[in-house]
Amino acid sequence: MLFSAIEQAPADPILGLTDAFKADARSNKINLGVGIYKNEAGQTPVLDSVKKAEALLLETQTSKSYLGIEGVAEYSALVQDLLFGESSDIRQSNRLFTAQAPGGTGSLRVAAEFLVNVANVSTIWVSNPTWANHNAIFTAAGLTVKSYRYYDKQNHGLDFDGMLADLSQVEANDVVLVHGCCHNPTGIDLNLEQWQQLANLCKQQQAMPLFDFAYQGFANGVEEDAAGLRLVASIVPELMVANSFSKNFGLYNERIGGITLLSESTDSGQRAFSQVKKTIRAIYSNPPAHGALIVATILANPELKQLWIEEVKQMRERIHKMRTLFVSKLADAGITQDFSFIERQNGMFSFSGLSVEQVDRLKQEFGIYIVGSGRISVAGMTRSNMDDLVAGIKAVL
Ligand code: PMP
Repeated sequence: MLFSAIEQAPADPILGLTDAFKADARSNKINLGVGIYKNEAGQTPVLDSVKKAEALLLETQTSKSYLGIEGVAEYSALVQDLLFGESSDIRQSNRLFTAQAPGGTGSLRVAAEFLVNVANVSTIWVSNPTWANHNAIFTAAGLTVKSYRYYDKQNHGLDFDGMLADLSQVEANDVVLVHGCCHNPTGIDLNLEQWQQLANLCKQQQAMPLFDFAYQGFANGVEEDAAGLRLVASIVPELMVANSFSKNFGLYNERIGGITLLSESTDSGQRAFSQVKKTIRAIYSNPPAHGALIVATILANPELKQLWIEEVKQMRERIHKMRTLFVSKLADAGITQDFSFIERQNGMFSFSGLSVEQVDRLKQEFGIYIVGSGRISVAGMTRSNMDDLVAGIKAVL
């Protein structure tokens, strides 16, 4: 018997929380666990730009035949425009190669398989802390995962000196995973000067940056958020990007993202990309079409693109407003502990500093669901659940 001796796998710490939330009968329960955008009404809507693109596709699509291994034909160039800027030197350099892939997770996994099996990479460095799934994805592909300091607990900021000190130990051909913006879980990003120093260090150590870019548009703007990536790309000879459109297009269940290589030369890039395609062929052969067609339809149509940029702005600004409201309501409730750092963090998440015990009490006593690390998904806050949330936090502090 193959199955009888198998042990139960532990529930995923974040997705398991969603299951527990669903099973909770309390009407005033609040889910601040998983990173899903919610509007003021607590819903995760389909964007108008997406609905319009889908209507166009319904009329014009004539076949559901297989895509090529690298996905929808127009998609790659449009993704490169978004990541690197349409008219930038890098974009014009013939050194970029993009394959569509199933979400950020699928992109990271394909990248990892390629790095291990083709590029002979053995070690990847990730920030401490990082998105919980990074370790699982990279370990499953056979990489050794090492971590570099990132979060300064005392100041609720970036421990950049610690980060540089740890990364000074990277060896040639190691890979350094960085979050393009809206670092998950801390919400703390590098500034341009720090990106430059990091790029110089990677270049000097002959290590390659891998950008996990899952939140473009959620920090300061679609273009603004790519500034770090673009700066690093102007310094290092090679890098990779695993991007996701789950959040910024609200296409969570369409599983749409991409793997992009920036190579030193067109020739080496073509060879490397042929191996990325070979890697994909052996995993899922070729990707699903719907999400990529939606994204490509929007990005290729100036009116739809403008509408999408406006919708990303609305999501970003709503989260910013919730940060401000949360901090002021905590102060109004007479809580003297300083939470002002929450307003300085980027993206969906806030590293609240709440302890495991406090997080547990919030769940048991108040039906407020937060990840054990104290990471709060600010995107789940609304004006109507804010008072209950603040009251719960006040009770457990
Ligand atoms: N990277 C980071 C940093 C993320 O936060 C997420 C989503 N939580 C992903 C990758 C994966 O995104 P996707 O859902 O598109 O696989």
